[in-house]
Amino acid sequence: MAKKKKKDKRKRTIKLATLQLQKPILKDGVLIYQGNITLRDLATTIKVKDFEIIKHFFMKGEKLLVNGVMNNQQVVEFCNLYNIKVKITEPLSDEEIAKIMLTIDDSEDLVERSPIVSILGHVDHGKTTLLDTIRKTSIVEKEKGGITQHIGAYIVEGSTTNITFIDTPGHEAFIQMRRRGASATDISIIVVAADDGVKPQTIEAIKHAKEAKVAIIVAINKIDKPDINIEKIKYELVDHGLTPEEWGGDIPFVEISAKENKNIDILIETIEIISKVLDLKAAIDKMPSGIVIESHLDSHLGSIATLLVQNGTLKHGDIIVVGHIMGKVRQMVDENKKVKQVALPSEPIRISGLKDTPHVGDLFVGVHTEKEAKEFTEYKKALYISRKKGMFSKLITQSGNKKILNFILRADTQGSLEVTKNVIMKYKLKFQHINILSMHVGKITQTDLDLANSTKATIVAFHIGAVSKEIFSKIKMMKIKLIQEDVIYRIQEEVENIILETADEKILVEKIGKAEIKKVFSSSHIGKIAGCVLLNGKVTKNALCSLEKNNKVIENLEIISLKRYKDEVKEISGGKDFGLVLKGEQNYEPGDFITFYQKVKTRPTLKELLLSE
Ligand code: GDP
Repeated sequence: MAKKKKKDKRKRTIKLATLQLQKPILKDGVLIYQGNITLRDLATTIKVKDFEIIKHFFMKGEKLLVNGVMNNQQVVEFCNLYNIKVKITEPLSDEEIAKIMLTIDDSEDLVERSPIVSILGHVDHGKTTLLDTIRKTSIVEKEKGGITQHIGAYIVEGSTTNITFIDTPGHEAFIQMRRRGASATDISIIVVAADDGVKPQTIEAIKHAKEAKVAIIVAINKIDKPDINIEKIKYELVDHGLTPEEWGGDIPFVEISAKENKNIDILIETIEIISKVLDLKAAIDKMPSGIVIESHLDSHLGSIATLLVQNGTLKHGDIIVVGHIMGKVRQMVDENKKVKQVALPSEPIRISGLKDTPHVGDLFVGVHTEKEAKEFTEYKKALYISRKKGMFSKLITQSGNKKILNFILRADTQGSLEVTKNVIMKYKLKFQHINILSMHVGKITQTDLDLANSTKATIVAFHIGAVSKEIFSKIKMMKIKLIQEDVIYRIQEEVENIILETADEKILVEKIGKAEIKKVFSSSHIGKIAGCVLLNGKVTKNALCSLEKNNKVIENLEIISLKRYKDEVKEISGGKDFGLVLKGEQNYEPGDFITFYQKVKTRPTLKELLLSE
């Protein structure tokens, strides 16, 4: 007998439908709608017939479709006729969604969770060395040299609590998360080198940590170095709003040497103390929610992401939604390459199974049904495409007569994506109309195709492996331009080709031959025939000519008849005799010269284009 699947008892974190666009309503004489409204929805909501709206605009010469989206001006105009006021609200921003998703409900059963720590500071002040030292110490103690992998975060066992370190040093991950209104950290350690003091990135780090409202610890590093002045650095930090506890402030300062593993234990203790004060809690009997701290495309496993669970429990097989991406959690591994079945709050875990590669800083949430996940991701995709299309139409209006070349980029890692972007943006300096509509790590998706189709964008895919048959046949069907290469210079070549293909054709006028008129005959039906001898080159029936007589030149003449003996011919070459009749200008005489020209269409070279811009 088939085993009955146990019902998942975890409570939902959020009803995704609440984050979606709300249906238009009419309340107290006010029509309220989010984003856009179709003609049909307007008609139903304000209770008029579709054709009333169509007729009204038709009379003004505007043709509207029942399923088409109306612009806000039209909505206001029509509602005015019925004395209905209009209120347009915006869809929830990423920040608002982040706030809703990350709020932990105090009324739930909460348990203690470990602190999540990030390390910030100026370049070369020792962030990587500090992360390495902390990790090595913890591995030597715990794993006895076990195999580890970089997944973007790791857990260290303190004496009273575990600590999760985000190990993407530098600010990028931190800033990306802040940009999306999320924060993955509870405590930021600001590293300042004792021999260098406060530098621009130190100031930036302080600013970010303060804005994110996280607890701060200052680690003055490299105290093993000779001739350093720690007091001076403390004064500098006070100037930037960080006063040490021993001076009556509220910021713990720890003097360390990351290289010589000095006072690292005190730093860990300090983190534990602060963590107690912060009283960090999360629910575990809920569906999971949290943040993406690393992502890339793996040639075998597809999209890989490291998730940091912030609330609830993530389980193998969970259906999760990350922005406009959904997936079923397949493989779950930790930083020690151990396969896991669950991840609890504050635990980082590397997963596969997502249908696309998410951005660092994206929020994820687990849901009970695939249907809910699909509904939400479809909604997000539609919203994404309509926003991009909006950007695109703005660009069209701004660019005047200039052609716009749109690109959609895909690559296997953030690094390759940047390289691809740089290759394309090189031309932006000259061609203001080059525009990157979207850039993402991962394989080409249906959303990319929809966006490319509606904006005539070229998809540039660098190093993403084979494109699936399904996507490939859709690309062909939709006639989307695709550049797919594994070598960057080929991408450059193909981008150049596309730039050249879209450049306006130039028409060159090329000299093809010259003749002298020897005799002139009159014909009753076609006028004066010039009997010529070809001096050089050739003459073709469709050539343009110029007539040179008495040092005067008459240009842009056409041939109406070209004859060799009695026969009408298309071309004459070599030093032969022939007869011709010119259209319009027939005042020719023996001794005049005729030069023949041909118009050739050419495209400018890239060099010419770059120079001409
Ligand atoms: P990051 O750019 O902030 O990640 O800095 P790194 O960790 O790469 O360190 C920059 C340089 O400083 C490297 O050459 C390290 O060996 C050195 N360094 C880091 N910590 C210490 C320390 O405590 N003492 C000394 N003397 N050198 C250190």
